[in-house]
Amino acid sequence: MHANPELSFAETRTAGVVADDLKRLGFEVTTGVGRTGVVGVLANGEGPRVFLRADFDALPVREQTGLDYASNATGTDPDGRQVPVMHACGHDMHVTCLLGALDLLAAARRSWSGTIVAVFQPAEEIGAGAQAMVDDGLFATAGTPDIVLGQHVAPLPTGMIGCHPGPALAATDALRVRMFGRGAHGSRPEMAIDPVVMAAATVLRLQTVVSREIAGGDTAVVTVGALNAGTKDNVIPDEAELKLNIRTYTPEVRTTVLDSVTRIVNAEAAASGAPRAPEITPLDTFPVLVNDPAAVQRTMGALAAHFGEHAIVDHGPATGSKDCGILASASGAPLCYWFFGGADPAVYAAAEKNGTLGSDIPSNHSPHFAPLINPTIDIGVQAMTIAALSWLTPR
Ligand code: ZN
Ligand code: ZN
Repeated sequence: MHANPELSFAETRTAGVVADDLKRLGFEVTTGVGRTGVVGVLANGEGPRVFLRADFDALPVREQTGLDYASNATGTDPDGRQVPVMHACGHDMHVTCLLGALDLLAAARRSWSGTIVAVFQPAEEIGAGAQAMVDDGLFATAGTPDIVLGQHVAPLPTGMIGCHPGPALAATDALRVRMFGRGAHGSRPEMAIDPVVMAAATVLRLQTVVSREIAGGDTAVVTVGALNAGTKDNVIPDEAELKLNIRTYTPEVRTTVLDSVTRIVNAEAAASGAPRAPEITPLDTFPVLVNDPAAVQRTMGALAAHFGEHAIVDHGPATGSKDCGILASASGAPLCYWFFGGADPAVYAAAEKNGTLGSDIPSNHSPHFAPLINPTIDIGVQAMTIAALSWLTPR
């Protein structure tokens, strides 16, 4: 799975592997749900309908882990470019752990009743897969969930499981901003309206949104991750492009930040005398992921009974974003979404002691992200199995 990563909505090989395994386990399988998603249903008598979700897309990252099962794969990105592809977010682990859990649950079907719905979701990295599956009739195919359970591998030590009740992961808004000037020879600034200076001033002013417009007790992140303009030292270009990534936890703060960004982009263009207004285009969006407190208590209670109280931590809200919550919010079901560690505990402890976690423990999306195969998979399989059993009816 790790050596064969596929980009968002191109997960055809992965979907095939998953579908074959689900059929082997006796699940009723539907493929092509939300383009490349796969749904497996195991109806096993009266009882709750438990959705178990794993995402399965990879990222345009050139793997540098040096693992003997490292990826050499390439894919075509949405702009038509050939790019290297890597499971740099660990979604290969999620697929493997869910298939492992389904194997155990199917083998133990005499000890529980209810319906398991395995949701293998495409395109999590672009925030589009969960919504695509919902729009493509996921609930008509598989029924409405009583609970949605999902997990994500994280740069925590193996054996540690993290979960936060309430708003746990931030909303994301990604924006593309085009700012227009007037190109000219680099020696003749008086003939130009320089979009490079316009964009530079905009980037700096955008950094005042969080520091000057958001209350100290609220959280927001505004990152300008891309700034592109021009080709040559003596050519003033026509336009500049910014790409922004915004993280928030409440609708009020989100609205404030988006309004402020729009106001500042337009005002900086006007301040420069831009010949036309900037274009602001939304790219990916993720809603806030909200864990149901009662569902967290029940699920984490079962995991604590299995792994020990010490294994379960509340890490607080994180500024990452996941679209798993859409499966719950679109159906009115409660959600419990947790993280499980993949880092070598000895390496992690040493890095923590030295204050070098940032440099020594690669995070998700790093070309060096390499969760230990074991015990990470073993723990992920157990966690998903125990979590599912905590909602199914025992018999
Ligand atoms: Zn991920
Ligand atoms: Zn990711």
